[in-house]
Amino acid sequence: MSLSTVSTVGTAPTAPTTPTASAAYTDLDGLRRQDPELADVLMGEVARQSDALQLIAAENFTSPAVLTALGSPLANKYAEGYPGARHHGGCELVDIAERIAVDRAKALFGAEHANVQAHSGSSAVLAAYAALLRPGDTVLAMGLPDGGHLTHGSPANFSGRWFDFVGYGVDPESGLIDYDQVHALARAHHPKAIVCGSISYPRHIDYAAFREIADDVGAYLIADAAHPMGLIAGGAAPSPVPYADVVCATTHKVLRGPRGGLLLCGADLAERIDRAVFPFTQGGAQMHTIAAKAVAFGEAATPAFTAYAHQVVANARVLAEELATEGFAIATGGTDTHLVLVDPTPLGVDAQTARGRLAAAGIILDTCALPHAGTRGLRLGTAAVTTQGMAGVELARVAALLSGAVRGDANVREEVRELVGRFPPYPG
Ligand SMILES: *Cc1c(COP(=O)(O)O)cnc(C)c1O
Repeated sequence: MSLSTVSTVGTAPTAPTTPTASAAYTDLDGLRRQDPELADVLMGEVARQSDALQLIAAENFTSPAVLTALGSPLANKYAEGYPGARHHGGCELVDIAERIAVDRAKALFGAEHANVQAHSGSSAVLAAYAALLRPGDTVLAMGLPDGGHLTHGSPANFSGRWFDFVGYGVDPESGLIDYDQVHALARAHHPKAIVCGSISYPRHIDYAAFREIADDVGAYLIADAAHPMGLIAGGAAPSPVPYADVVCATTHKVLRGPRGGLLLCGADLAERIDRAVFPFTQGGAQMHTIAAKAVAFGEAATPAFTAYAHQVVANARVLAEELATEGFAIATGGTDTHLVLVDPTPLGVDAQTARGRLAAAGIILDTCALPHAGTRGLRLGTAAVTTQGMAGVELARVAALLSGAVRGDANVREEVRELVGRFPPYPG
């Protein structure tokens, strides 16, 4: 089917005109006419996101400005290579977008070098490994049962297939990273790299301690800060940038940008990191996403974002405290971040059952491995609800609703609707 056939479905054919630049941007009515089936999905998803409590710790609501950049015709542009050195013509303007994104990322995180091309957090980690390691090298990372990511040695992932991973864990009593164990494992296995970062660890990571251990055994230190990167941007969590050889991150979690990856490093590793992203692990850069990353980095540099990042943590603390009062067991006894990891079994319900009851009540979250428990727990995050404008009093309410839903209270669905109805993520 030709493009002209598609674009005139349901409309009177018109003579081709030169569209103004703004006509190239989001045209929902046009999509509705052309493809009602997909338009329904797109509109339905906004309604779904607005009609429930979004507590998935890895999710957030991006701004309309970020969405505009994402939906822009920069998506049309092929741009292999880096600004000023592309394999394609016509890159003058997307080069500006990428330079802005790089400069903003460097300034935001105080890094000597930034690569903004990684398509995702996993792609960023792949590039970091590609830059520093060879297949078969030993890597020390948090074990998956304790909160490591798939890219930290899962046998189902390239990392576990191509590298020899050794896992460290958290202390069974405190739930905190056992730095003595990390050190002992590093001395015993002589890893080429140590990875710090987790999908569920709710506490600050002591990057200086990891640096000392890495130096002691001559290992690279890779910080996978996918989760806390937005807190770091807002000054609400310590930064790994002064300590790690390479920092990998996502731009779409607390950082509230488009789905994508980010790498930071010193000038010494800049070229290796860039070549590991392109041409080693990726092809053409996604310029619409890079432009959206630039917008998000710009937003993250504002005082409003600093306040947001601190509110995210304050909200998570309220959630943890109130859930403890409701009888949930809280991993590590609380949180320093946006993340709360809880065990619902003291309420007589396992995590899988709890997740189902919560989903039915309009409370959306993940289950996640609970270190040393042999069972799964519930992983909650406050990034999205904080973007919606919820603060302490609402988070206490969220905890009460969560508890009610896990216990099987059928009224919770309506009460969730009433709460989220007062905090629309996209007003109007
Ligand atoms: C989310 C996450 C990733 C992967 O990000 P994707 O964009 O989903 O590939 C990698 N590492 C950690 C620690 C994460 O939390």
